[in-house]
Amino acid sequence: MHGRVEGKTALITGGGSGLGREAAMHLAEEGANIVVSDLNDDTAQATADEINAQRQGAAVAARHDVSSEEDWADVLKTTNSQFGSLHILVNNAGISIHGPIEEVAFETWKQVQEVNVDSVFWGCKLALPYMRESGGGSIINISSTAALYANPMTLSYGVSKASVSYMTKSIALHCAQQRYNIRCNSIHPTFIKTPLLERLADAAGRTVEDVHQSLGDVVPLGEVLEPRDVTFAVIYLASDESKMMTGAELVIDGGLTAGYLPKI
Ligand code: NAP
Repeated sequence: MHGRVEGKTALITGGGSGLGREAAMHLAEEGANIVVSDLNDDTAQATADEINAQRQGAAVAARHDVSSEEDWADVLKTTNSQFGSLHILVNNAGISIHGPIEEVAFETWKQVQEVNVDSVFWGCKLALPYMRESGGGSIINISSTAALYANPMTLSYGVSKASVSYMTKSIALHCAQQRYNIRCNSIHPTFIKTPLLERLADAAGRTVEDVHQSLGDVVPLGEVLEPRDVTFAVIYLASDESKMMTGAELVIDGGLTAGYLPKI
């Protein structure tokens, strides 16, 4: 099926790599006009070029540090001047730096909160006027299963993603109360085959295939996610098919947070 988000304008952060890149490609396939933003303008441009190779004029790229209020203001202005509307915001850019409480430096903790949490605060706050002007919209915040169950190594990351969950619900209820026709939901994937896991494998001195295998072994369905496993949920939440869904946590984890598989 195509055209599920036909005529809508979408801004995807961290769209130069991994999940963000796939979300931008998938939203474009379903008919949206796309602004691909990323800290790395070369990778953002490469995603936009690939979309434009299929549908000329459908995508533009922008350099964007999501922790910067000024950058958000600039990217939203670019979106509006390019396409004249904003209906879909995918707050996808994020970083993961591991370490337990006794080892993690305060600077690392702050950096993770700035990139993963301040970004969503600024993005939602500054996008709302543009979405209202466009007649409504859908905000999709990429959280993680790390928001839902703890791990000693993911202190900074898990707290940041739990903050995104709360922020999502609070913003969803505010927009509902104000009758803005703007919805806000979070997606909670488990491990996805993206460069984020490649870097984790490098840091551990292991091959990426080996890391996919051992992480897949703890997922009840037996494997880690492909980016498309998540972007189908992005399309659903971005489209009018989910018009009665707001403030929700959409979990895509192969059963990981449902419980455990007894070994006896
Ligand atoms: P990724 O391949 O590392 O992509 C993240 C993108 O965000 C990169 O293009 C990166 O740019 C960009 N970025 C980093 N800091 C930024 C900043 N300050 N401003 C703007 N862009 C910035 O990772 P991914 O796996 O696709 O992650 C996407 C989202 O999924 C993240 O929110 C992550 O927490 C979430 N997630 C991932 C997994 C997983 O297993 N992969 C699981 C659950 C949730 P550079 O390349 O220049 O650094």
